[in-house]
Amino acid sequence: MDHILVIDDSRTQAEYLKSILKSDYEVTTCQTGLEGLALAKTGRYSLILLDIIMPDMDGFTLLRTLQESFPTRYIPVILISGLSDVQHEEKGLTLGAVDYITKPFSPITIRARVNTHIKLYHFQMQFMKQAMVDQLTGIANRRRYEDESIMKWREAGRLGLPFTVCMLDIDKFKIYNDTFGHPAGDKVISAVAKAASSYLQRATDFLARYGGEEFVSIVIGLDAKSAFEFFQLIRRAVEQLQIPHNPEFSPYVTISLGGVTVVPQAGDSYDAYLKIADNMLYDAKKLGRNRVVWSDGGREQWLEK
Ligand SMILES: [Mg+2]
Repeated sequence: MDHILVIDDSRTQAEYLKSILKSDYEVTTCQTGLEGLALAKTGRYSLILLDIIMPDMDGFTLLRTLQESFPTRYIPVILISGLSDVQHEEKGLTLGAVDYITKPFSPITIRARVNTHIKLYHFQMQFMKQAMVDQLTGIANRRRYEDESIMKWREAGRLGLPFTVCMLDIDKFKIYNDTFGHPAGDKVISAVAKAASSYLQRATDFLARYGGEEFVSIVIGLDAKSAFEFFQLIRRAVEQLQIPHNPEFSPYVTISLGGVTVVPQAGDSYDAYLKIADNMLYDAKKLGRNRVVWSDGGREQWLEK
């Protein structure tokens, strides 16, 4: 059931709105803008009904604040105003409110408009989700990776946890495509994504298609040695799929992996470590492919086999 937040300094008014909506929605009410802001930030709400005239923080100020930050920017806000402030409608809509309802209102109007905006909200969320997914494999795409990598990097730094980034690449993929054709190549990319994601199941694990036959994974909480061993499992899992390759080059489809594990320190740059992971991948290719090469961010390097 969708959650709706009603922010109105008049408790009577807030309770009246709640009584209109409570058969279809879970409704929370509060009486101040500050309280409303704190509640909105929990990310629990699909819609906000906001009174304009309130002491301390008025509806316009709150609306502006909601619009300034993610994810509250995406919560639809319907402004509720008295007849005396009907001239504020333009201002409210300009600030980003999706709709404007003037008191006195009929319960049917409230229900109808709320239903419409909740529906639109779900379409928008669905659309945004799809824009973050790689269509071929169903895993995260490059765009989502760009957001996620920075968030996870900061999170690991804040918590003082080891952060791992690993680049994965399908070996001799161009030859595979030239031999078996692009549709077969697409199937291989999907199979590798599936095998890798079956190992990356924890809430903090992340896997994205980086581009072409290249993937990137982020893991938090494993030390360098454990991460090195963990990604060997993924390498083996792909090898064990036993997808026939062009026998002149390789019996089966395999992947090479390069990674780095560090505890992010203040002033460290994520991009510098991504570059190290990329160098490790390069070493894995150079050493003969189908292997994992790892760095601890300093002098230590681990090579598989
Ligand atoms: Mg009021």
